[in-house]
Amino acid sequence: METQTMTSKEYIALEEKYGAHNYHPLDVVIDKAEGIWVTDVDGNRYMDFLAAYSAVNQGHCHPRIVKALQEQAEKVTLTSRAFRNSKLPLLYEKLAEMTGYEMFLPMNSGAEAVETALKAARKWGYKVKGVEENKAEIIACTNNFAGRTITIISFSTEEQYKDGFGPLTPGFKIVEYGNAKALEEAITSNTVAFLVEPIQGEGGVVVPPEGYLKEAYEICKKNNVLFMADEIQSGLGRSGKLFAFEYENIRPDVVTIGKALSGGLYPVSAVLSSKEILGVFNPGDHGSTFGGNPLGAAIAVEALNVLKEEKLIENSYELGIYFRNQLKEVNSKHVKEIRGKGLFIGVELNNEAGGARRFCEALMERGILAKETHENVIRFAPPLIITKEEIDWAMERIREVLLMD
Ligand SMILES: *Cc1c(COP(=O)(O)O)cnc(C)c1O
Repeated sequence: METQTMTSKEYIALEEKYGAHNYHPLDVVIDKAEGIWVTDVDGNRYMDFLAAYSAVNQGHCHPRIVKALQEQAEKVTLTSRAFRNSKLPLLYEKLAEMTGYEMFLPMNSGAEAVETALKAARKWGYKVKGVEENKAEIIACTNNFAGRTITIISFSTEEQYKDGFGPLTPGFKIVEYGNAKALEEAITSNTVAFLVEPIQGEGGVVVPPEGYLKEAYEICKKNNVLFMADEIQSGLGRSGKLFAFEYENIRPDVVTIGKALSGGLYPVSAVLSSKEILGVFNPGDHGSTFGGNPLGAAIAVEALNVLKEEKLIENSYELGIYFRNQLKEVNSKHVKEIRGKGLFIGVELNNEAGGARRFCEALMERGILAKETHENVIRFAPPLIITKEEIDWAMERIREVLLMD
């Protein structure tokens, strides 16, 4: 079949027929994208308010990042880490310069970065902290999201994520998100790390109480427990800071990043930490065929340059305030709470609103793509290159939808 002559319906039928049904997407078949806009196969344009779960913070197909990809693709794409390449060291240097961390470990997906952080924490626990073999405990939070591997879902509190996938990985404890006291009480001499999202993304853009991260950080320090921030979604400008933890002036021992690290052009993730912690890995302990490849590294360097040089973090901070204020002015009977930091915004609807999905579908009809998270939350997380005028354009439509019956 000629692809150009296929309709949305045909693409959807093909996908439904052959693809595993592990997603329930909105029925828009995107064919092209540029900046904050995507175009479907029928030529309809939509403003993208999901930005691929914050992977395209720099906007779709950013010309500078596309160029970096093209240039590197013509030179060398993959060497494996059996050999060195001329791009990975430059990514390390860029990360050091921008984040102030000391040592890095590159992977591909976010889940792999989290897995790497968990392995680093356990090994640090045995080799540095002196925890007895196989006794290490890691504490995570209720409502967390850190990916979909078996180990990661083992500490999920979402039943569906675990159902049918046992036996699960032991060694995790769960404490209530936002409750520092609960963390303190859960720590034992075997606790090696506390893993937390400074703002929970998939959990519904949940911002913890002010002071929580700082308090949790101090509790970790006092108990020689690693504080590990999962900034895969909240990081790289999304929250209006480079990292969401900066709002509480803390310096996590370990940070995971992914998603926007490539501006959406390629899967690139990384663990940022210190020599003491990442230094526990010896040759052969851990690896990845694609992790640290020169194509991904070249893309990531440019994605970080764009973030900085186009002042996207500042734009996220300022327009985040503007956007939230605009949303708060809509007097909708459906809205329970509007929350977030920067352009990382959740609109939680009342239980009587009939779920966020119908609002997302109504937004789609009006040219806006947003995705519900957790039944009742509409997430608004556009690319950080968005302008005030574009937010005004969107607000006209969002207002209409929030004021529906
Ligand atoms: C998306 C996400 C992950 C997992 O990233 P993948 O690339 O989908 O594996 C991990 N942690 C957080 C906070 C995320 O939002």
